[in-house]
Amino acid sequence: MSSTQFLLFRDCMAQQLISRQKIDTATGDSSELDDFVDFLAEEGWSGLPLSLHEATYQSRAEVPEADEVDLESGVSPTFTDTLVSYGVVEDVDDAVKLLRKVVEAYRAEACAPPPVWSSTRTKECEICEREVPLTYHHLIPKSVHEKVVKKGWHDESMLGSVAWLCRPCHSMVHHVARCEELAKEYYTIELLLQREDIQKWQKYASKQRWGSRPKKVYRAPV
Ligand SMILES: [Zn+2]
Ligand SMILES: [Zn+2]
Repeated sequence: MSSTQFLLFRDCMAQQLISRQKIDTATGDSSELDDFVDFLAEEGWSGLPLSLHEATYQSRAEVPEADEVDLESGVSPTFTDTLVSYGVVEDVDDAVKLLRKVVEAYRAEACAPPPVWSSTRTKECEICEREVPLTYHHLIPKSVHEKVVKKGWHDESMLGSVAWLCRPCHSMVHHVARCEELAKEYYTIELLLQREDIQKWQKYASKQRWGSRPKKVYRAPV
């Protein structure tokens, strides 16, 4: 079992949970959130097929899409029971739906091509400050550039501004707001960090040192 894949999955689980309002009542402080995420990630992970556990860019052709995986019968009852009893989801169907979203996000990240390294960018992710491979995020997403200029939201010279983010932080940013919203209201890291969900995510992610919190079952590969 590869540690990197599980940690990626756990990050995706955290994103889904943090973006749900009800998570605050399920977990009091942030260390409880860590345990809650850990627990649910391990439970969710154990029911997934091996091809997903070992998903990489190289193996992507063999990795099933999230909607091809039989999560209904594969998922552990503990996973669904926990989510339902803490009120994070309404029922079992809802719990499976949440897991499917996590699997979908995880699959996309695990199978993505490795980020391109560049000598000019920062070393640490601008949100979680982890030293992990970084991707660049167009603070004003490309898909809305035309609209941004037409509506006069920003000067054309602003369009190229980017932030260097690790993959999990990058996907969290796109998870919490649509491109138009990002362009209009969250076009700097500072503005993004004013969002409560991003703050919560930052707090969580910055503590997850990849491979440095080994658990008995998930040892980092040698
Ligand atoms: Zn990050
Ligand atoms: Zn982006």
